[in-house]
This record gives sequence, structure tokens and C-alpha cells, in this order.
Amino acid sequence: MVKALIVGSSIPEIKESLGAVSQAGEKVILAYGNAAEDEQLQQLGFKVYRLKSSHPDHIVAAVEKVYDEFKPDIVIGWITKNNRAALSYFAGKRGLPMPTDVTSLEIKEDSIIYTRGFLSERAIAKEKVPLPAIVLINQKVFKPFEQAGQAEIVDLTPAGETVKLVEVKKKVLSGINLEEAEIIVGVGRGFKKKEDLELAFKLAELLGAQVGASRPIAADYKWLPEDAWIGISGKRVSPKLYIAIGISGAPQHMAGVMNSKIIVAVNKDKTAPIFKQADYGVVADLYQFLPVLIKKLEERRK
Ligand code: FAD
Repeated sequence: MVKALIVGSSIPEIKESLGAVSQAGEKVILAYGNAAEDEQLQQLGFKVYRLKSSHPDHIVAAVEKVYDEFKPDIVIGWITKNNRAALSYFAGKRGLPMPTDVTSLEIKEDSIIYTRGFLSERAIAKEKVPLPAIVLINQKVFKPFEQAGQAEIVDLTPAGETVKLVEVKKKVLSGINLEEAEIIVGVGRGFKKKEDLELAFKLAELLGAQVGASRPIAADYKWLPEDAWIGISGKRVSPKLYIAIGISGAPQHMAGVMNSKIIVAVNKDKTAPIFKQADYGVVADLYQFLPVLIKKLEERRK
């Protein structure tokens, strides 16, 4: 019977990872960071190792301890910065295979068969690795596993620190949570100046949406904070509706929005690559189109 260790720093991460390995027999959880402080942890219904730290060194030490005790066949978690850092270090140390960006998973007795996107998600690879293995999954792909019941909590003491934290500098963040957004208005270089983004924010307000951006807007021009940056090197989002305005559709951007249910593109160039991937396309100058759309939505609101 295949045994699974689920590693995560939030309850949604843990529930989805449990869903990904629902075929596994015995399962235990290592909850760190925010998850360790979350009261919902008590109701997860499994044995839970709780680590009140998100220091990658502490996570590595905790994974090692639980791994040696429980001897899982699969260690699994979401692709997050801390999971990536800690689990890749652990995988290297123990010589374990570590597929990442996994979007489907089939567990056999001695191996797993999984799929993952590559070439900026333009192709899908189906691969097999022997167990034991470490697996990092794409978020919001697997069905969360819901099971109510008292968890058996085991507290772990943070240990194994090799890197000392000297200073913590807060990133300038907007506080938006694109990963949870149901509608996202994405803004790109089609906007000529920062003040013009007001059009996108107005549209977003009318739709109950969040505003995200292509890399140049967040990283180069710094018109929006980094947590608005969508794409292969930014956030991967999965809203019900993604409205890309003045975005050309570079693979590095589209990799971040592939899991959107519906993609609508507004672009004045009818040959823009985004139209090949959008469900609906509007060939228009955003400076003409958005004021009309905003007016229509405002009228409907009255
Ligand atoms: P552009 O490509 O310049 O497109 C602007 C679009 O706006 C054009 O299609 C144009 O026709 C349209 N337009 C212009 N004026 C108007 C108007 N008035 N009305 C309507 N449409 C208009 N990019 C990301 O977004 N996220 C990433 O995570 C990311 N990671 C990267 C990683 C690497 C290693 C590399 C090399 C690149 C990465 N990029 C990323 C950059 C990516 O390749 C593109 O350069 C970027 O996505 C382009 O942004 P854009 O679509 O806003 O701008």
C-alpha cells in the first residue's frame, strides 16, 4: 500500500495535495507556517506534524524527521517558494526523483505516472518515475479532499538552521490575491501610461475583479506591485474569467493564465498571438473600447 506525506503551509494546499494522492493508502501531513497556526488543522482527520516556522532549513529538518519515521513512498505539495526550496534540497540529499508542475497523477505500486506542461505549457509531457518520489503539483488542478474528523497533532521543534536571518524587508505588495480571484483584468503594454490603468481598475470594480499585469507593467515600469505580475516567472492564476487588455500573449505570460476557464483578449492588432489562445477576442483600441464598455456596465448597474 502506497504511503503519502503531504507538505503544505495552508489548508487549501494540504486539501488539494490530499486530493492528488487520494489513491494512496496511509497519509500523514506536515503543516508548517500559516497552516500550523490554522484552527482548521485540528479537523483534518489525519495525523498532522505541526511546525510553527516557514524557514526552509526548519522545513527540511522536519521533512527528514517525518520521512525517516513514516517512510512514505510519495512526498507531495503545491509548487510554492518554500516547498520548492526545502523539498528540492531534500530530494538532492536523498537522491529522490522530483517531478514538478504536475497536473495529473496516477499511483502504481512501485511508480507514478504523471503529466506536466513544458515549453511554457504549450506541450504536455507524460512521464513515469519510480517510487519513492517527491511531487510538486500545480495549484487548483486537483480536487480538494474533504474529510472532517479530529486530527492527531504532533508538534515539531524548529531545528536544523544553517542560514541565519539577518534582516527582513517587506516587499511592496498591493494585498491583492490573484490566486483566489474569480475574475481578473490583465493589463499589458498596450496601456501607454500609468494613469491610464485607471480604466482597467474602473472595469475591475464594475466586474468585481482583481487587476493583474504582464511582466513589463509590474517588473519594468513598476506601475503595479510585483504581486500583480502574472506568468511563468510571476503568478499562475485560474480565474473563471481572464480579460487580457493590451497584452500580446507571449508564452511566458500565457503560461500563467492557462488554467483560466474563459480568456477574453482586447488588442488593437488582429494578428496578436493572444487571439490564438483566447476564447473571445475583441480587435479594438483599448482607449476607445474600454470607455464604451465601462459606460454600458455602469448603465446596467443603475
Ligand atoms: P507587448 O508584447 O509589448 O504587447 C503589447 C500588446 O498591446 C501588443 O499586442 C499590442 O498590439 C497591444 N496594444 C498596443 N496598444 C494598444 C491599444 N491602444 N489598444 C489595444 N491593444 C494595444 N511576461 C509576463 O507577462 N509574465 C512572465 O512571467 C514573464 N516571464 C518571462 C520570463 C522570461 C525568462 C522571459 C525571457 C520573458 C518573460 N516575460 C514574461 C516577458 C514576455 O516574453 C513578454 O515580453 C511580455 O509578456 C510582454 O508583455 P505585454 O504583452 O504587456 O507587452
